[in-house]
Formats: sequence, C-alpha cells, structure tokens
Amino acid sequence: MDEFGLINRYFKSAVDPDMVGVGDDAAVLPVPQGMSLVVCKDVLIEGRHFFSDVDPKSLGHKSLAVNLSDLAAMGATPHACLLGLGLPRVNEAWVSAFAQGLLTLGKQWHCPLVGGDTVSTPEGITISVTAIGLLPSASRGLLRSAAKPGDDIWVSGSLGAADVALRILQQRLPDPEHHLHTLRRALEWPEPRVSLGQRLLGMAHAAIDISDGLLQDMSHILKASHVGATLRLDKLPVHPALATFDASVVGEALLEGGDVYELCFTAPKTQHEAVVALGQELSMPLTCIGEVTAGGGLLGVQADGTQTVLQPRGFNHFGKP
Ligand code: ADP
Ligand code: MG
Repeated sequence: MDEFGLINRYFKSAVDPDMVGVGDDAAVLPVPQGMSLVVCKDVLIEGRHFFSDVDPKSLGHKSLAVNLSDLAAMGATPHACLLGLGLPRVNEAWVSAFAQGLLTLGKQWHCPLVGGDTVSTPEGITISVTAIGLLPSASRGLLRSAAKPGDDIWVSGSLGAADVALRILQQRLPDPEHHLHTLRRALEWPEPRVSLGQRLLGMAHAAIDISDGLLQDMSHILKASHVGATLRLDKLPVHPALATFDASVVGEALLEGGDVYELCFTAPKTQHEAVVALGQELSMPLTCIGEVTAGGGLLGVQADGTQTVLQPRGFNHFGKP
C-alpha cells in the first residue's frame, strides 16, 4: 500500500462538521471566542524512545498521550492533533494497530487527528505528534514560573513503575517475582492527566508533567520561579508493584525515573483541602510531597528529619551521563 492508501485507510477519521480534517492541504479548526491555542510537539525515535518490538497499539496511544500530558500540565483542553510519521517500510498490520491506539485515545479526549505527513525513512521509525489545546485567553495556563514560597507541592498518581519496567526490559534489573506485566502498563499505556490539569486552572500556581524524572522536572519549576523546595522523601507515592524491589532501586526510580506522565504542581496552602477534595472527586491519588521555599536549592527530608541536598538528575538527551 502506498502513502495515500495508508492515509486514507488508517488516518482519516471523523471530525466535527465545522472542522476540515485529513484530506485537504491543511486542516481548518475554528477557535471558540475568548480562547487561546496551546500547542506542543514531541518526537519519538525507534530505539531511543521505544523498543522496535513494542506493541504498536500502545505506541500509538503513547505518542498522543505524551502530548496530551503536556497540554494537561498547562491546564489546557485538547482540541486536535497532527501526526508526522516516518516509516522505513510499510507493515499494514503495524500501521493499523498504531493508528487504532492513537485514534482511540484521541476519541476519549475529543482530540481528533486532523492532519499530518507520512514519509519513508532510511531506517528506524520516527513519530512526531503535535497537539493543539484550548485555554481561556484570560489565563496563560499553569506556568513553570508561577510557584510561590509557601506553596504545597503535589504529585498525582504514583511514581517509579515506568522506570523499573524499562530497567527490567533492558535487562539491567532482575524480576524474580514477575512484576513486569503490571509495571509495563505504566511505561506503555500512560494515562494523561487531562481532567486534573483542567481543574487545576485557577487552583494551582505552577505545574509540569513528569517526563524526565521528578527531581529534574521539579527543578525546572524551581528555576523558572526563582524558589527552592523541601521534598518529603517519605511521602513520595510509590507504585504498589514496587513493594518487593530494593530500596535503592525504588529510591532512584521515584526521584529520577522518567516517562511518568503524572502532574507535579504547586498550590497555595489555602487550597490544600480543595486539592484533597479534587483528588477524591477524580478518584485519583493526589499526594502532598513538600513545600516551596524562598531560598534556592532542593532539600530532601527523611521521616526522621534528616536533610540532604538533592541534585536535579534525570534524563537529558545531550547531558553528560
Ligand atoms: P501535501 O502533499 O499537500 O502536504 P499530503 O499528501 O502529505 O498533503 O497529505 C494529504 C492529507 O493527509 C493532508 O490532509 C494531511 O494532513 C494528511 N496526512 C498525511 N499524513 C498523515 C498522517 N500520518 N496522519 C494524519 N494525517 C495525515
Ligand atoms: Mg498540498
């Protein structure tokens, strides 16, 4: 099947009658009055961001999920998405499953695929999704620069599972009790926290989604906001399937493990009860893991009060190993 056959068969899907989607030279999207566009893009490369033999349906899901997660971290509502796809060869079963994963998640969040580009690449699959969201124009979203001293620091869901799954799949970690099956769901089927992000608008100050590790992503907020933080290390929400792993393995996964796609956000203490209630309403764990401080630096505090200075380590494509 050629380029145009692939597009028509797998990537053409229903859009609202007031939109022009796949099939013309460009998509046309009405923007509701009083709303601003919020736009983000992620690139995923075979061998770097995903294994060659990964389930293509999960890959389609994740390619959109990581972008919806960025929109969520701004407090935006998904509106539409575009897909750039580079394939070394056409494997129809693969393309079909990939499209299914992407389109199903798009449907769930009313984020239709409205365009893209399909090309052949010399080697390796390359995926780039652009997501477009909406935000009331009066708001500039949940900016990294908006944290204030005295804010609580919160994190959604649990941490560590994706990183440990990755290490097991890379055979850097044994899995004698066969937890991979549970843990790899976090790695391969991340659920973007779209509803949470939308509700945090007006409630939280700063937010970021954890793609490169809690410490590294939190330090982006601290730097942009010119503040410091204390982190309650004993309060970090550990994924339940990590209970039987070494404390050092879990500790590293919680603080530095990437591919998490939970939201880390800061909110004034006056909103504490409201955030707790929101977690209950959304049936989603929201854990207060520390506090923003006026002074620079990131301090980790143990249950017994012992303090350590934390370095913002995590994944960095051009960083030193
Ligand atoms: P052009 O040559 O004018 O750029 P194309 O032939 O590349 O157009 O694309 C035809 C239509 O198919 C366009 O609407 C484009 O947005 C859409 N399209 C191409 N590839 C994809 C894809 N991977 N996913 C979604 N839409 C796509
Ligand atoms: Mg054209």
